[in-house]
Amino acid sequence: MNKEALVKSLQEIAGKEHVVFAEEDLVCYAFNARSRRMSTPPVAAVSPATAREVSQILALANEHGVPVMVQGRGSCLADNLTIERPGSLLLSMNRFLKLEIDPDTLTAVVGPGVITHDIKKAAERHGLFYPPDPASFTYCTIGGNVATDAGGLQCVKYGTTKQYVAGLEIVLPDGRIIRTGGKCIKDVAGYNLTQLFVGSEGTLGVVTEIILKLIPLPEGKKAMLVLFDNLENAARAISRIMISGVTPSVMEYMDEVIIDAVEDVAHLGFPSHAQAMLLIEVDGALSTLASQVEIVSDVCNRLGAIEIRVANSSKETENVWMARRICMQALTRKAKGRFSGDPAAPIDKLADCVLKVKDLGLKHSIITACYGHAGDGNMHPCFLFNNDAEKERARQASGEFYEFVVSIGGTVSAEHGIGHEKPHYMHLQFGDAQMDIMKGIKRLIDPMGIMNPGCLFDEARHE
Ligand SMILES: Cc1cc2nc3c(=O)[nH]c(=O)nc-3n(C[C@H](O)[C@H](O)[C@H](O)COP(=O)(O)OP(=O)(O)OC[C@H]3O[C@@H](n4cnc5c(N)ncnc54)[C@H](O)[C@@H]3O)c2cc1C
Repeated sequence: MNKEALVKSLQEIAGKEHVVFAEEDLVCYAFNARSRRMSTPPVAAVSPATAREVSQILALANEHGVPVMVQGRGSCLADNLTIERPGSLLLSMNRFLKLEIDPDTLTAVVGPGVITHDIKKAAERHGLFYPPDPASFTYCTIGGNVATDAGGLQCVKYGTTKQYVAGLEIVLPDGRIIRTGGKCIKDVAGYNLTQLFVGSEGTLGVVTEIILKLIPLPEGKKAMLVLFDNLENAARAISRIMISGVTPSVMEYMDEVIIDAVEDVAHLGFPSHAQAMLLIEVDGALSTLASQVEIVSDVCNRLGAIEIRVANSSKETENVWMARRICMQALTRKAKGRFSGDPAAPIDKLADCVLKVKDLGLKHSIITACYGHAGDGNMHPCFLFNNDAEKERARQASGEFYEFVVSIGGTVSAEHGIGHEKPHYMHLQFGDAQMDIMKGIKRLIDPMGIMNPGCLFDEARHE
């Protein structure tokens, strides 16, 4: 199908003002947070407003073999949304903005284009809580969260997006519209198609509506910052806290390179000999907060914590979270580039992981750093480089770390997904039989291979 005919058909479906096709305008759509700028812009971008419009667009694309990328806000970190094929169509979900809270069933019905932060705020007005909180929650969409099964700081206690998805409306690549799940608390009828689509990274269809579960808002919370002069002890404290009877709502980890980078930028007065830092939050009934803090402090003290700061004011709490929020940006002052990622290991293996990152740094003569949502075993190991030779060694070290994580029972992706960045790591985690099942599912639902080709699997078409 040539560009002119495609644009005309899209304009008939979605309206002229919702189709972008000038090259200079399309530049604004050709980005994601990992690649910043994609080399191949889409041939057109369309912003439909209803499932019916999406259905007509997909049926058209399917008939003519036009590759389709679904875009939320492009904040993905595994190149989940990368236009590799010339002639691709970008489908923006920014007009799907339905947001209804149903306090009687503890659910919300939302459009995929709603910003995650807005759902949290709307739920709070009813005394309810939508817990998933990717660090990007003030600008990413719930559709992107569902498609990547986004995690976040509070996953350690509350789980990832999938735990809160009760039902979906999905447009399949051939244009059929299906509804999965619903507002029932219990529902075991048939295969769980809702969860099949959660985390499918726009490779199986377009999510056009989401039913989310909500829970009562915790009464209060308390933030703490714990410093260690020994990396291993900090990592061990994480698994000990998890079995102490207190489940923190947040437990983040940073090593000394990150602490130093944050201190350079924010001047929070961290001791220069600190090797690791835990940022912890406990929540629940107000009457339980002090005892939760005491139990966590006790575990940390027994493992040789050199300083424990408990936030007693909103300013102190803000400092704790500022340290976490700026660490990615602060690290850019340490090196020109880095290989990073989102592997996870069982929490009792966390100490082995942080030591492995250090070892790989020494082996390949590069600087390394490590931070992450450590309470759920999810790390962001960083292999830094300042020139081409270091870049090659950092790439090698990063690959070796993924192999190590899988060898100890971990996963190559805890939250960002596989995207176009990590298909070559899939074989580390999955054998031939599992890969065959996944490719078979893709072939069944998307036989023309139009949905986000190249994402998850290396091949574009699925003969
Ligand atoms: C600073 C920063 C911090 C981050 N922190 C976290 C974190 O803590 N935890 C975490 O998990 N992620 C994190 N991320 C990654 C990112 O924000 C999440 O992956 C988020 O879910 C992406 O949402 P989005 O709206 O930007 O989606 P996009 O980036 O636009 O899309 C992501 C994927 O979802 C697909 N998609 C989007 N909408 C739909 C739809 N309606 N139907 C079908 N497929 C769809 C896309 O095709 C793509 O494959 C972070 C990113 C940044 C930049």
